[in-house]
Amino acid sequence: MNRPDFSSEDVAVVSGQGAPVWEDAATRNPAQSPAPELLTANRQSWGRYPSVAHAGVAELSRRQPLPDLAALGPSLLPHGLGRSYGDSCLNEGGVLLDTTSLNRFIAFDATTGLLRCESGVSLAQILDLGVPRGWFLPTTPGTKFVTVGGAIANDIHGKNHHVAGAFGRHVTCFELLRSDGQRYLCSPNENVDLYRATIGGMGLTGLILWAEVQLRPISGPYVDMESIRFGSLAEFFEVSEESDRACEYTMAWIDCMAAGAQVGRGLFMRGNHAWQPRIPGRTGTPRRLLSLPIDLPNWVLNGASVRAFNALHYHAQLLKRVRKTIPYDPFFYPLDSIGDWNKMYGRRGFLQHQCVLPRETALQSLRSILETGAKSGEGSFLAVLKTFGDVKSPGLMSFPRPGVTLALDFAFKGEKTLRLLDRIDEIVVDHGGAVYPAKDARMSPKTFEASFPRWRDFAGFIDPNFSSSFWRRVTG
Ligand SMILES: Cc1cc2nc3c(=O)[nH]c(=O)nc-3n(C[C@H](O)[C@H](O)[C@H](O)COP(=O)(O)OP(=O)(O)OC[C@H]3O[C@@H](n4cnc5c(N)ncnc54)[C@H](O)[C@@H]3O)c2cc1C
Repeated sequence: MNRPDFSSEDVAVVSGQGAPVWEDAATRNPAQSPAPELLTANRQSWGRYPSVAHAGVAELSRRQPLPDLAALGPSLLPHGLGRSYGDSCLNEGGVLLDTTSLNRFIAFDATTGLLRCESGVSLAQILDLGVPRGWFLPTTPGTKFVTVGGAIANDIHGKNHHVAGAFGRHVTCFELLRSDGQRYLCSPNENVDLYRATIGGMGLTGLILWAEVQLRPISGPYVDMESIRFGSLAEFFEVSEESDRACEYTMAWIDCMAAGAQVGRGLFMRGNHAWQPRIPGRTGTPRRLLSLPIDLPNWVLNGASVRAFNALHYHAQLLKRVRKTIPYDPFFYPLDSIGDWNKMYGRRGFLQHQCVLPRETALQSLRSILETGAKSGEGSFLAVLKTFGDVKSPGLMSFPRPGVTLALDFAFKGEKTLRLLDRIDEIVVDHGGAVYPAKDARMSPKTFEASFPRWRDFAGFIDPNFSSSFWRRVTG
């Protein structure tokens, strides 16, 4: 592919201020480095449920030598931008290792798209660097405010899973620091077991210091997209099959309150990177961020308002098909345009349930889940459906697997919300599916076991000083 010409800047290599600080400290015994002072400021996850207290937060700074992790406490967990919904990024009573100041690019080869950066670099930073130079993320979740460390630890997936697989496939190597001070270079050829355990390893195998990621080439910042209205689950699968053959990016929003023959109706979004480097009079740069200033009162989101929103959103598209060429930002990250949108669910927070279901029985299992949700009256604004392909990830604990994935958001209303989600888990497990840890705050050990039957193999790679609220909960 020819290099795009939309950036006149001919940057072969972008470097930070030299090598990462800890490269100088490579020969130093980390045990001699002072442990950073613990901050009392707490951290939350995106769903703001559960709310847990930590012993402290250690802000890892690139200006300081690597700390002696063991001296920070007996129970540690890396924490990126806290975009996981539940408790997989929390560690009640333990110490969080805040990585967001480890946010420096180390090297970028603009001819090959190979990027090396510290683990706290966000996907937003990578887009700012890469897009003007003709490079895009190999895959991206529905928000760009996640760190590279977080993307590896949950082996995140995007709208292009059917062609690109999950994030871990594009990570050529990383360095892992364990609490005994040992540092491991991990890649498909070196320390392979640790490489596989850390991809999707939920931060439990150690602290990723930096990683190398292969970006994918693009011609410009735009996406040719099409939105297609579909009237049922069966129609979703028809459109999806056709779209997965022709488009790199596919996903659907569904009206989770629709009933009868219309169960699963929605809007299918598909797209490809556009060829145009520039469109006269238009900017490809992200929109400004507005923020939700306060928590909405709990009563705003109820069965009736969710039903009305879903029906309006479905009917807002008058034509069966709408085609547009738009900047990448609104296509990939529509929710990022409203900062703190999680406050919409009120002070008690919310839960997301994301599962993957085998394709063979997906019509029945999806219908059953959607009907269960609709009957409960606890509808979801953000119901997303997408097929996963069979591109395998190197991660031992990766969530994506062939089938179809459904994500539903529910405001937390106490026991009745928890009971509803348990009921949905039962349907998922009965159909041979799995629940996604990055979104979870309440699945039972039984559901976890059914979702990740190889978790005991993984447990052998956990750093003895690392743990999380999620891990203790699901492994009893
Ligand atoms: C609006 C929205 C849309 C989303 N869409 C998707 C989607 O489409 N697909 C998808 O897969 N996910 C999606 N997510 C979830 C999100 O991508 C993941 O939870 C991601 O891991 C969050 O990264 P983070 O930097 O915020 O990390 P955190 O949430 O802070 O931590 C996530 C995990 O990474 C570990 N971790 C963080 N840094 C390191 C490090 N340096 N070394 C070792 N472990 C580390 C933590 O211990 C934790 O286990 C979405 C989230 C939101 C809020």
